Amino acid sequence: MALIVQKYGGTSVASVERIQAVAEKIKTAVNAGNQLVVSVSAMSGETNRMTELAQEIQAAPSLREMDMLLATGEQVTIALLSMALHQLDCDAISYLGSQVRIVTDSEHGKARIKSIDDYRIRQSLEAGKVVIVAGFQGVDEDGHITTLGRGGSDTTAVALAAALQADECQIYTDVDGVYTTDPRIEPNARKMKSVSYEEMLEMASLGSKVLQIRSVEFASKYKVPLRVLSSLIEHPVGTLITSEENIMEQAIISGIAHNKDEAKLSLIGVPDKPGIAFKILKNISDANIEVDMIVQSVSAREGLTNFAFTVHRTDFINAQNILQKVCDELAAKGVQTDDKVVKVSLVGIGMRSHAGIASQMFEVLHNEGINIQMISTSEIKISVVIDEKYLELAVRSLHSAFDLDKE
Ligand code: ASP
Ligand code: MG
Repeated sequence: MALIVQKYGGTSVASVERIQAVAEKIKTAVNAGNQLVVSVSAMSGETNRMTELAQEIQAAPSLREMDMLLATGEQVTIALLSMALHQLDCDAISYLGSQVRIVTDSEHGKARIKSIDDYRIRQSLEAGKVVIVAGFQGVDEDGHITTLGRGGSDTTAVALAAALQADECQIYTDVDGVYTTDPRIEPNARKMKSVSYEEMLEMASLGSKVLQIRSVEFASKYKVPLRVLSSLIEHPVGTLITSEENIMEQAIISGIAHNKDEAKLSLIGVPDKPGIAFKILKNISDANIEVDMIVQSVSAREGLTNFAFTVHRTDFINAQNILQKVCDELAAKGVQTDDKVVKVSLVGIGMRSHAGIASQMFEVLHNEGINIQMISTSEIKISVVIDEKYLELAVRSLHSAFDLDKE
């Protein structure tokens, strides 16, 4: 008998019919002899709808009250799913995060799970019930309802699987796994059978939005085998996210991620002396703006250098204003900005043991006439910033050059 934690996202519980279909799936898994703990999201669109309601009253409502409001979305779906199981003669019971208890810190809107008391869940499992737990929510030490941030039910499911030492955590969603790249850009993208936690973390942080990134961090930390699969097809296999050593056939490159939210800012002609990078970035980070790539060019004549970095497009205007001030203070030559750039990245653990991947990547881009504006690398990733009009071309040509379209 296996203990499986399943999570169904908003689209999988978007209507009564979908909820009934989920109940059928759960019943099939139970009949196959498994113990099931199931976590669900709110019906798709509900969390947004409630957020808009709140905003009609206040532009910046209290975060505590927002959590109180948003947590109700999942309360609806756990009860309906439990009823749908009862209707199929499958014993089930639903619990809120505060009942289980999923204890978090007090950071409303982005709380982190501190502990899960598995006593109640185990008791109900032993009584032969399917246990349904509201995703996305918890309770702090003082009893206030908290939420884990958008997409947080993924993290609830993985945390439950870790606490219960489940055999597998299955995330049911509307895509059938993790693809070698975005299938909307490259129709030849292939579904991966398996991918390592590390690669998945890179891809998630680079903008492949299949899972909440924190859930992958959690899975990696507690070594929870995590499977992403579709709730909309009959016998899904999905993609297994697991430790590197559990992956049989390792490709050198696993996938190509992209991020369209980038904007680039450069400070031109700054004096090349100690403290400049600090001065620029201190002002940016004090404004709570996250910096992604950073490039400082080799000092040119006259002891001047150029300093460039990227930020989220939502922070662009803000960053631009700050940089203009820094430019005046440092008597630099000027500020140049571009918010029409994207980041494209190759990801693969095989890069550690294979040289020459970067030059191969740059050759492909060169052959397509795509200018590389910035480069950054890590052990298992190479990212480039390019003009956004080349996004599709870059992704497609890299995908085929690295044979990602082949089995
Ligand atoms: N209902 C929440 C959201 O829409 C949590 C989730 O779906 O995972 O973000
Ligand atoms: Mg969701």
